[in-house]
Amino acid sequence: MTQVPAANWAESFHYGFKDCHYPSSVEEVRAIVARSAAVKTLGSRHSFNAIVDGSSAMSLEHLPINPVVDSSGNQVSVAGHCTYGELALFLQRHQLAIHNLASLPHISIAGAIATATHGSGDKNGNLATAVSGLEFVAGDGSLVKVKRGDADFEGMVVHLGALGVVTRVTLDVQPEFQVAQHVYEGLSWDALLSNLDAIMAAAYSVSVFTQWGERAGAVWLKETEKSGNHPDALHGAVNADIKRHPIIGLDAENATEQLGAFGRWSDRLPHFKMGFTPSSGAEIQSEYHVPRKHGAAAVEALLSIRSKFAHLVQSGELRTVAADSLWLSPQFERDTLSIHFTWVRDQAAVDAAAAQIEQALAPFSPLPHWGKVFTRQHVGRNYAKLPDFARLRGRMDPERKFSNPWLEEVVFGAKA
Ligand SMILES: Cc1cc2nc3c(=O)[nH]c(=O)nc-3n(C[C@H](O)[C@H](O)[C@H](O)COP(=O)(O)OP(=O)(O)OC[C@H]3O[C@@H](n4cnc5c(N)ncnc54)[C@H](O)[C@@H]3O)c2cc1C
Repeated sequence: MTQVPAANWAESFHYGFKDCHYPSSVEEVRAIVARSAAVKTLGSRHSFNAIVDGSSAMSLEHLPINPVVDSSGNQVSVAGHCTYGELALFLQRHQLAIHNLASLPHISIAGAIATATHGSGDKNGNLATAVSGLEFVAGDGSLVKVKRGDADFEGMVVHLGALGVVTRVTLDVQPEFQVAQHVYEGLSWDALLSNLDAIMAAAYSVSVFTQWGERAGAVWLKETEKSGNHPDALHGAVNADIKRHPIIGLDAENATEQLGAFGRWSDRLPHFKMGFTPSSGAEIQSEYHVPRKHGAAAVEALLSIRSKFAHLVQSGELRTVAADSLWLSPQFERDTLSIHFTWVRDQAAVDAAAAQIEQALAPFSPLPHWGKVFTRQHVGRNYAKLPDFARLRGRMDPERKFSNPWLEEVVFGAKA
């Protein structure tokens, strides 16, 4: 045991850990879990709430990542704590890619799939949908290996850190592809609300960045060679002729290349470059997923109360995510519009804003991002598969070694 992490990446949430294990082999992970009463596995600490908290932590950063492409060339397996950035560098040597990335490549794979982290694209599932196999150390220290098609597999991928220590992940891969990024500025709210579906369908991956001001903001198109030519203007928004950062006023050097230049998938699908600080750093994030059919109405409902929260927004983002069949995915059997907020780092003000936003979104069946800030309540009850997940957790972690108060309240509905 050495250094005990004090806070999340953004330093907005302070952990209560008293110690932290740093195993250097899977055998050591198994021994630690077997003898521990409680242990929380850390990913890259990019979540914003108490999902990772407890008395005892475990970091896997001393384990090798050991990526391996299978003989078919359709799958890669790698240690769970590997970041998408590290994986992309390895895949580059094999001319391979995964289907999508989040806004930043700095996050761990096991931590990202735990919370159903996503990028954008009408046809792109969240990052957990690329998982075809998992290896966990379960609560008794045993090694559990599962693959797509096995019983309960669809309950294990969006795992919330509740089922075990994810030591390896297998992901679907495809031949590498090129992406070009175009930013269109000055989109009006009318144009956005009247053409939401067309705008979100305009490229392989689309983000609308907004500060909830007088105009909606900017549309970022990430087009692949396959998706065709980009237009000169997009519903009244004009093609930017200089590079932009998603947060207006921050140095665009940290952002991935734009201005229509094609480049490697992994250098364009995230908004932020590996090796640079993503986003602003001093921030808090919230995000709500609503069914696509309610997308425009949900945005309009927020517009009507924007005076209550816009002053706290560093950057807002709308993305789309395709439906899936993963039990605790906010996209379980529904395509979503995902409404994201990068807030200033003022927890009390953000908590108050989140409550207002949740009230405005209530008619639209919103589900919060598991890794971001929302009002602490029994979110799990909105998931049809929660009883199955509870049964699965009971089997994999009967002594609740991987639990914490956040999981018990927010997921399983225990009273605080
Ligand atoms: C700047 C920034 C940009 C972001 N952009 C996006 C975005 O584009 N899209 C999006 O959806 N989200 C985004 N997020 C949120 C982020 O992707 C999620 O919070 C994600 O869960 C972070 O992964 P992590 O590795 O940091 O996990 P952590 O926050 O460290 O942990 C999350 C959960 O995973 C568990 N866990 C982690 N590793 C393991 C393991 N090996 N075994 C078992 N359990 C484990 C933890 O115990 C915890 O339950 C962003 C966050 C930041 C700070």
